[in-house]
Amino acid sequence: MARVYNFSAGPAMLPEPVLAQARDEMLDWQGSGMCVAEMSHRGKEFMSIAAQAEADLRELMSIPDNYKVLFLQGGASSQFTAIPMNLLHGGESADYISTGSWSKKAIAEARRYCGVHIAATTEDTKFTRAPAQAELDLSADASYVHYTPNETIQGVEFSDIPETNGKPLVADMSSTILSRPIDVSKYGLIYAGAQKNIGPAGLTIVIVREDLIGQPINGTPTMLDYKVQADNDSMYNTPPTYAWYLAGLVFQWLKGKGGLSAMGEINARKAKRLYDCVDASSFYQNPVDPTSRSWMNVPFTLASADLDETFLKEAKAAGLTTLKGHRSVGGMRASIYNAMPEEGVEALVSFMHEFERKNG
Ligand SMILES: *Cc1c(COP(=O)(O)O)cnc(C)c1O
Repeated sequence: MARVYNFSAGPAMLPEPVLAQARDEMLDWQGSGMCVAEMSHRGKEFMSIAAQAEADLRELMSIPDNYKVLFLQGGASSQFTAIPMNLLHGGESADYISTGSWSKKAIAEARRYCGVHIAATTEDTKFTRAPAQAELDLSADASYVHYTPNETIQGVEFSDIPETNGKPLVADMSSTILSRPIDVSKYGLIYAGAQKNIGPAGLTIVIVREDLIGQPINGTPTMLDYKVQADNDSMYNTPPTYAWYLAGLVFQWLKGKGGLSAMGEINARKAKRLYDCVDASSFYQNPVDPTSRSWMNVPFTLASADLDETFLKEAKAAGLTTLKGHRSVGGMRASIYNAMPEEGVEALVSFMHEFERKNG
């Protein structure tokens, strides 16, 4: 059976060499006589897999030593809760930048625990751009500033890191982590569900500056207490072992590709190829301000929504799947994370040209 180019926003494609290695190691991981999914998380085999994955992630992202790297469960959505619980530090409010569906969810959850001051919102323009630094209204008493560097649903991305006057900056990087180099030291906390650009669903990565943990609010569940997780090397309970292992294989694959600067160049090329195709035609349209366009999630509409079903059906027949846009936005969305090869974007662009020729 032929593999397809899967443009799903998540769970998303995984690199084929990673899947092939997992297949080869399925019944017997490196002479252990076991599948990784069958191993004790406290055994020496899994401990070595876990440590290697963390070391590789630290190397890829140049994570400074004063940051903890946590391998958790519960998805990015559980972090919407854990962040106020751990980072309020006795304060009563936090600043949130509202740029789309995921920041709105983070805001709604934070409101259960503290006052939320909206430092900026782009809802009046239907979340089609990221706010500029000058638009940010940061409050003096906020314990931290939260933003979503890449809004997966709207396809909107910040081109700069917000400046926060020394307040810890918290970033939901679920759909952009590992897509290019970033300066981790600019952040207090970075979190990401794995299923977009890291590995399988079920694993959530948290990268947090050491001095920010250890002061959770009363009543914080043990499992959501970053200090407990850090002190137990993310093994307070059974971690998502198989997802952790697969993420480790992805990290090795990324290192083999030349790391995050090499990935950044490839991803920039992929995004440009697709936006150029959309911009060169009056048949396709992308509503996002060109300065805020996402490298990872490219929403676009056709000249008529009546053609959507035909487009999806013919694309699927051509081996290009999961292009339907999010129900809140409509149209199409092509998610082109690290594991989407350039050939996949090339195939989509050719298909789009041909579809326009027939229907435009
Ligand atoms: C997918 C996504 C989430 C939700 O992730 P879960 O792991 O399903 O909770 C949150 N934020 C962003 C930016 C996302 O893309």
